[in-house]
Amino acid sequence: MESLYKEIDNQRDFIISLYKEFIPIKALGPENGGEGEYSRAIKLKEIMEKYFDEVKEIDVKDERVPSKVRPNLIGTIKGRNQSKTLWIIAHMDTVPEGDRSLWKFDPFSITVDGDYIYGRGVEDDGQAIVLGITLAKVLKELNLTPNINFSLLISADEETGSKYGVSYLAKNYSLFNKDDIILIPDAGNPEGSMIEVAEKSILWLKFTVIGKQAHASTPEKGINAHLLSMILGVTLYEELHEKYDAKNELFEPPTSTFEITKVEKNVENVNTIPGKHTFYMDCRILPQYDVDDVLNTINEIVKRFEAENNCKVEVEVVNREDTTRPTDENSETVKLLKNAIKAVKGIDAKAIGIGGGTYAKYLRSLGLNPVVWMTCDETAHEPNEYVRISYILSDLKVISYMLM
Ligand SMILES: [Zn+2]
Repeated sequence: MESLYKEIDNQRDFIISLYKEFIPIKALGPENGGEGEYSRAIKLKEIMEKYFDEVKEIDVKDERVPSKVRPNLIGTIKGRNQSKTLWIIAHMDTVPEGDRSLWKFDPFSITVDGDYIYGRGVEDDGQAIVLGITLAKVLKELNLTPNINFSLLISADEETGSKYGVSYLAKNYSLFNKDDIILIPDAGNPEGSMIEVAEKSILWLKFTVIGKQAHASTPEKGINAHLLSMILGVTLYEELHEKYDAKNELFEPPTSTFEITKVEKNVENVNTIPGKHTFYMDCRILPQYDVDDVLNTINEIVKRFEAENNCKVEVEVVNREDTTRPTDENSETVKLLKNAIKAVKGIDAKAIGIGGGTYAKYLRSLGLNPVVWMTCDETAHEPNEYVRISYILSDLKVISYMLM
């Protein structure tokens, strides 16, 4: 392992040059006003062909982009035992740079400052791409055969739903075996001690309260939809927290959350009582609860509220993603990763659940045990997104420890 670690420590310049090859080639999905990942994929494929035994491309049709396809790349280095694979799953699409004036550097030309590399997509999810390709290069150069196969999947379409990426591949191809080790380096913490194994269900709701518009000086002639919305919001907030009050210490935070968020513009002027008011709620529901049950409860609260307040309330589901079974905390993937982190970094990593949604759920629904893990300062989607080379080198050591 010592010579392998030494070789990994020599990869600083390679990592910088790799970023310089693909970050300037934009890869935005059509929902984000982009042309897809095709140009970036051609470049990445060309690089992967140098270091992997074989590279496959799986194109998924998408009429909205000029190339008409969303490309997914799989590079493999064969192991001694070829019935099992350690996967790194990365995604090549990024989000737009956002407000350019907030960037210290050009987001699409790589800027290196000591340990830091800046650019849009360097962390999300360039870090995973760089981890996979650099590991393959080191194995190739040292002429090492891993214990099991090593595959890097660089997928399309993660930022806007993964219909043309991992979710499609999971449904239509049998790429993965039950006991494969699957790492998704797409979120993490600065210590590299957070192993994400579970997600809450996500439910976004839109409530439109319909009352009766009137002059603000004669409220008795109207029904104040904004005031009723405030009361309904507080009622939902309190009753949902009370009914779904379970705690699961795997998650951060350990409870379900029900947050009143966005409101839509109602009347123009201060002295009009609005006859219609729209607000939204973001719910993150612990896996032990059925999302349909939560929806039923909400509909009952709303029905009662309508009767009590002589108003009408429309409820619309804006987004719903039911969680699946969590990754087994005793799975080989979790155990191997914990051991490797302990051996390389000397720290105890912890399995946790989060409120956000990643494409690990598509793989979990197939009975697989993927984990989301890497070492990062969580700068994804922010201006001045960066990675730290030292984090990448230590992640490389952890993954190679698992593989060798
Ligand atoms: Zn990502």
